[in-house]
This record gives sequence, C-alpha cells and structure tokens, in this order.
Amino acid sequence: MPTPLSPVPSVALIGRTNVGKSTLFNRLTESHSALVSEVAGTTRDRKEGDCLWRGRIIRIVDTGGLDADPNDDIERNVIKQAEIAIKMADIIYFVVDLNTGMLPQERDLAKKLVASKKPILVVGNKAENMGAITSVHEQQWRFPGLSVPIPVSAVRGTGVGDLLDETYDLLQKLGRPPAEISVVQAVRIAVIGKPNVGKSSLLNAILHEERFIASPIAHTTREPIDVRVNVGDRSYVFVDTAGIRKKSKVKDAGGLEEAGVERTRKILRKTDVALFVVDATEPIGAQERVLAGLLKEAHVGVIVVANKWDLVPNKTPSMINDFEKHIAASLPFISWAPILFSSALTGQRVERVFDLVDTIQEHRFTRIPDDELEAFQLAAVRAHKPSKGKGPKPPKILGIEQVDIAPPSFQVVIKAKRLDVLHPSYLRFLEHRLRGRFNLSGTSIRLGVRGIVSA
Ligand code: GDP
Repeated sequence: MPTPLSPVPSVALIGRTNVGKSTLFNRLTESHSALVSEVAGTTRDRKEGDCLWRGRIIRIVDTGGLDADPNDDIERNVIKQAEIAIKMADIIYFVVDLNTGMLPQERDLAKKLVASKKPILVVGNKAENMGAITSVHEQQWRFPGLSVPIPVSAVRGTGVGDLLDETYDLLQKLGRPPAEISVVQAVRIAVIGKPNVGKSSLLNAILHEERFIASPIAHTTREPIDVRVNVGDRSYVFVDTAGIRKKSKVKDAGGLEEAGVERTRKILRKTDVALFVVDATEPIGAQERVLAGLLKEAHVGVIVVANKWDLVPNKTPSMINDFEKHIAASLPFISWAPILFSSALTGQRVERVFDLVDTIQEHRFTRIPDDELEAFQLAAVRAHKPSKGKGPKPPKILGIEQVDIAPPSFQVVIKAKRLDVLHPSYLRFLEHRLRGRFNLSGTSIRLGVRGIVSA
C-alpha cells in the first residue's frame, strides 16, 4: 500500500559525518521552533523539525551519517533511518564540506543518492571564505546526476536563504508546495466588534450551526468558549466567542466599558487573526476606533467584515469604493486590513473567511530574504531621501533588517547616536512602500530604528 503523502513536504539531510548537518538542521528550523513543538516520530537517529520560509512550512529531516559501519548493530540502524528518510523525502540535501573536497566515501554515497531518483540539491557547507565559495565550480564537485553545490554557511546563516528559495521553487515544481501554517498549527481567530453588528450571526454562519444565539437583543451571547473547526486538512480555533459588551448608559471610553477593553486585550493576546465585524449600514464610530487601536496594539492579523451587506440597497462599485475609503479614513490604525463585504444572514461571502485567514497568517509569517530587503532599501532611499527629525542633518540609512515574524518586524539601521534624527514620517513612508513591494495585507508591521555610530 502506498504511504499516504504528508501534507507537509520534506527535505532529508544526507551526508557523511562532520559536514555540519546538525548545524544546518538547527539553522533551518530555528525560525519555526517557537511555533510548533517537536514533531512526533523523532528518533535519536532521525530528527525532524519544521522550517518556515516565505510564510510556509517545509519539514526537515536530519539523519545520522550514511557512512556508518554496516557491521555494527547500532550503526546499522543509523543507515536504516537514513534510508527511510530518503524514501519519504520530497527532496534530498546532499550536504558536503567545501573545504575538504569530495571524499571517496562521498562518491559512493552520491551514487546511492542518484540511484534513488529523488530530486537532489547539493549543499556546499562551510562556505565562509571566497575560496570555498568559488570552489563549487571545480571539477571535483562534478558528479553525474548532480548539479554544482549551493554554497552556504550553516554557522553564519549565509546562503541559506538562497538554498531555501531554490527548495521552495523546486517543491512547487514537483507539485508538493510548502504547506500553509494552518496545516501544522491551528490558526486562532477572534470575532470582535461592538454589540449588534452580527458577531454571533456571523459565527453561526461560519460554523453552519446554531451553536451561538443570534438575537436582536444585545448581551445574549453565551459564555466564552473556544471552538475548533476543521476545514479540509486545516484547523482553526475561534477563541473566546462572547465578544465585547457595552454598558448601556456609560458613554466614556468611546462607549466601551473598561472591562470590555481589558477583555478584548486578553482575547487578542491569544489571537492570530481577528475578524473585526462592523455594520455596513452604519458609519464607523468611536467604539470601532477604540477597537482598531486595540487590534493595532496587539499586532494581530485583521479582516474587517462589513456585515449586513444585504441591507445596503443599490450596491454599485463606486459605493463599495466609498465605503472602503470611509473605513480606511476612519480606522487609519488598520488601513492595511482587507475588507470582506458579507452577510451573516444570507451567508454571502462568509465562506471566504477561511481563505483570507490563511493568506493573512501567511503574510504574518513572511520572512523577506536579505538581498530583497537590501534592494528595497536602496530603491526607497533613491526615491525619497531620509527626512530630518531632530538634529542638524538627516541620517544616513545603512540598511533594513528583519528581526522577527508574526508580525513581520524590521529595524531601520541608521548611522547616528540618537534615533530621533530620522523623522517619524520616514518610517510611515517606508512602511507604505514595504507593503507595496511585498505582499503584507492583513498584517501589522513593526518598524523600529537602530542607530550605530560607526560603519
Ligand atoms: P452581535 O451582538 O454582534 O453578536 O450581533 P447578533 O449576531 O446578535 O446580531 C444582531 C442583529 O443583527 C440580529 O437581529 C441579527 O439577526 C441581525 N443580523 C446579523 N447579521 C446580519 C446580516 O448580515 N444581515 C442582516 N440583515 N441582519 C443581520
């Protein structure tokens, strides 16, 4: 019986001992270690972990050296595990050490790998100097059925982005695209909005069942509970579904009682993507502005659900446009959030929520390769010179670094002692441009400044 394909494509690291497979494994899986716990089935001789690249997951399987002694009982198992890994893998990384050249036992290994008929990328590790990097074109690395090594340094992390880009494209070509994050981890969704906009009705429509009471009277939603929903091979958890409540006569804090604000903050700490429900028949008001502030502060992904769309008469494209402008202008904190015009009552476009959530979750986990970020920075500075904040002259921008994901977080590195020499408006310019250049809709971005004195 054929083994069922895992929804997550995998890459097996194969190579002799000491080429740096474990270091490479750690490097590849580091960004993801916070996201998912160890994958089950990991054995001493076969270690599995997930690699997050361009917002998607590739499983990495590390094996013991395939040059183990077949006459030794323990080492025989190492070989067996490596063979299993090769068989299950979508791609093989044949890891070699650029400084030692190809050793005789590696030629045997290479023959075995080519015979497996699996797609192979030769990874030339320890490429820490020019000599090692250029050596990939030497005759010694030419091997029938293999392409030249891709130079990387597992210790420093250089070249790993290019390797992953190539892997990503190859997996896509093989029809085994890297998996969406929601395949390995449930996306946590919160439904928020002021009373009566249709939160319960929307949840009902999404879940296709009357688990929550939809009622014209506010305050009738039942106790908060988390609800898990499976759609295909993905899981979603709707967190704490009671929503925000309004104290009827209190008008301060934008009409939201303090407890509501605190409760929302608490919910958003557990949330990946929030469905921010507004009533399409009413203008955006003070309560929505307070909520938008909370969403921004929590750095969650956001979809604005313009509900009760069925009640809007004579819908025209220009009206939709006006409404979008109205929302963007009224809620500048989250002007990057996509708007879903839907009706919980008729079910119109409600099913689109899951696709949108997946897309946004992917954007939240975007990691932009260093070279693309560098090209972006150079073009941005060419288009618009850094504007001066405090101090005698505008600072020189040395680079932009991505320092985190979920949400994508960047630091603008400037040559200066103090950070306020860069005008805050320049950060807004950069954010706007980042969003235009890279697909980041639905996710907030953190953009900070780091100053260094000499460079
Ligand atoms: P919540 O307080 O935000 O949870 O709002 P509810 O789900 O209780 O809905 C408030 C009222 O709006 C109820 O009378 C719903 O039937 C109604 N409602 C909710 N969604 C829609 C919609 O898409 N279209 C229309 N016409 N009515 C809706």
